[in-house]
Amino acid sequence: MPAVVRVALPVPLARLFDYLSPAGGVAAGSRVLVPFGRKKMVGVVVATDVEAAVAGTRLKSVLRVLDDGPLLDAELMQTLAWAADYWLAAPGEAYANALPLALREPRPLPETSEPWYALTVAGQSARDAGSRRGSSRSLLDLLAGASQGAAELDVALPGWRPAARRLLEAGLVEQRAPAPAAAAPNPAPPLSTEQQAAVDAIASAFGRFQPFLLDGVTGSGKTEVYLALIAQALAAGRQALLLVPEIGLAPQTVRRLRERLGVPVEVIHSNLAEGERARAWLRARSGEARVVLGTRSAVFTPLPQAGLIVVDEEHDGAYKQQEGFRYHARDLALVRGRALGVPVLLGSATPSLESLANVEAGRYRALHLRARPGAVQPPQVQIVDMRAQRLDHGLSPALLAAVAETVARGEQALVFRNRRGYAPVLLCHACGWHAECPRCERPMTLHAQRRTLVCHHCDRHAAVPGTCPACGGAELKPQGQGTERLEEALAARFPDVPVWRIDRETTRRRDAFEQLLEGLQDDAAAILVGTQMLAKGHDLPNLTLVAIVGVDEGLHSVDFRAGERLAQLVVQVAGRAGRARKPGRVLLQTHHPDHPLLRGLLAQGYAAAARELLAERRQAMLPPYSHQALLRVEAHQRAAVDGFLAEALAALPADPALRVAGPMPAPMPLRAGRHRGQLLIEADARGPLHAALRPWPHALAGLPSARRVRWSLDVDPIDLY
Ligand code: ADP
Ligand code: ZN
Ligand code: ZN
Repeated sequence: MPAVVRVALPVPLARLFDYLSPAGGVAAGSRVLVPFGRKKMVGVVVATDVEAAVAGTRLKSVLRVLDDGPLLDAELMQTLAWAADYWLAAPGEAYANALPLALREPRPLPETSEPWYALTVAGQSARDAGSRRGSSRSLLDLLAGASQGAAELDVALPGWRPAARRLLEAGLVEQRAPAPAAAAPNPAPPLSTEQQAAVDAIASAFGRFQPFLLDGVTGSGKTEVYLALIAQALAAGRQALLLVPEIGLAPQTVRRLRERLGVPVEVIHSNLAEGERARAWLRARSGEARVVLGTRSAVFTPLPQAGLIVVDEEHDGAYKQQEGFRYHARDLALVRGRALGVPVLLGSATPSLESLANVEAGRYRALHLRARPGAVQPPQVQIVDMRAQRLDHGLSPALLAAVAETVARGEQALVFRNRRGYAPVLLCHACGWHAECPRCERPMTLHAQRRTLVCHHCDRHAAVPGTCPACGGAELKPQGQGTERLEEALAARFPDVPVWRIDRETTRRRDAFEQLLEGLQDDAAAILVGTQMLAKGHDLPNLTLVAIVGVDEGLHSVDFRAGERLAQLVVQVAGRAGRARKPGRVLLQTHHPDHPLLRGLLAQGYAAAARELLAERRQAMLPPYSHQALLRVEAHQRAAVDGFLAEALAALPADPALRVAGPMPAPMPLRAGRHRGQLLIEADARGPLHAALRPWPHALAGLPSARRVRWSLDVDPIDLY
């Protein structure tokens, strides 16, 4: 019998592929180049010496072995196999996710050690003379302080490479051998009793798997706890992985890690140039990288000397991948922690109900930080009842007065509204027509500065009509407020104070957000208008007022997670106020001042509100007290969707442990011109759910109607859209 290897290929199929083993063999975890249809593909060897599923004579041969030894170590291989099984994923897509794109090509591994960059004498004079502009200038400025490595430069000046090339050619910059890490790290502040207790508890679990939930209000010093533990892991000769939900949070954190630990910090995220990402990944694999900071995909970083995994803001939905391999990085971090035998620390001011339920069930140990060592006192939160108020572009007199007082004291105010654009609806007052996306059948958002209507569901753009297309009337009125409109209204009312809008549009340029944040460190009055982007951990010492508007939508959503999300958002945004020595104030403007969720949240805080929400979930048998998988389908024809769902339902094993809802239209039945439908499968326990669903993806792919639709299966979906 010829030797056969089993290979994971990056195709959306729920199976692996067998090939004849190359002469000389190949180890599991290595990459190979194989023929696939008319193409060649890079795959990962999952098993060797397997019994071929088809007769050996019909098998093709591996064309080339790309690695001398396994690129993915045994732990990662085991974790990925587990993950593909758990999330009912195409295994090849799971393995592909674990490898940086540059390593999915049939090329030799890139060199991992990179030179550092330093100014030459000529470079110094060019800088002094101010003879360079743009990114060249910025790079000269950066290097004037000290020579720096690529990882540093990636953080400080994304897209620095072309500038480096120009300056190298001009002789203004030179390459050097890497400098040793900063000699004198910044000292840590003495930890509070609570912080020390948390550090001690977690440190005592070094060397074995134990999940912890660090539950501490914003500003309570969670990051200090991470830093102390990472320092201990490093001192013990171990690596640490710190996950953050989005890269906007990374620069501040990188700086803090680097200054405190005095070691290089490897940053891994999807905005990184592919070569860089591959190099960082390989440095972690070789053990050269001691601290890795990254977003969702960094959970796949090899950690041969792992000591600790930290997941910051563990409640954040950004940890869930919403396409292809639909894994959850927090959950995967726990799986890795178990396989690696290290403690996993989940941190949040607003823990997910899933994690709180795990604490309740005794699976996680909870640690609490209740005080805010850096700040005088927690911010006061007040409800502003906006019923029967005269509103100015949606802003109540009480809110405007509070903004006026704040800026008069030379402090900063944030008006939070989680909607981009000028107005969510453009309405004809004569006949009731409103601008709607024909591909989604939802209102289009008016963007006044860009003079366009934009569909926030499919990104369709349309011109703003001069008159009503239905009745010819001339009175088309924007309804409701987006950040752009609030910015305009606040700028008109406070002409002497700078008003900054911070949303995806104003921060499109990579470094724009960073620069804005830098500017706001000053002790000058300013008004910020922003979306979700601002809800995340940025430290703005002079920000003392946070006004939250437009959260009422979250009180009426059909999604059973809406209450949890709203509570998290309110608490996170509120946490921006009064981070430093000045007391903060938070206003929550609503039409529903008596809503029990808002009342409970304000009177008793997040923990109590979360307990209430958990009790409701338990009563309704909703996650985390039951387990779900969602089959989503879309197609140009409604009939194709319905046909597929009917066949999919028939292909589902009849198991009394399963509850099935649907076939039914998705909450958005049409998006981007495609009809959408779904089937929700629920069970009280995970085991039966998985046992029943495991063969399903293969069956689904084989359905006659499958070729006319796009479908995906989402295990533990975090939204039902
Ligand atoms: P979190 O991550 O919980 O939001 P941080 O760790 O960022 O909190 O801490 C909030 C602020 O308090 C920071 O400015 C930090 O430097 C400061 N801080 C944290 N712990 C201490 C401490 N033990 N002593 C003095 N200041 C501290
Ligand atoms: Zn009209
Ligand atoms: Zn649309």
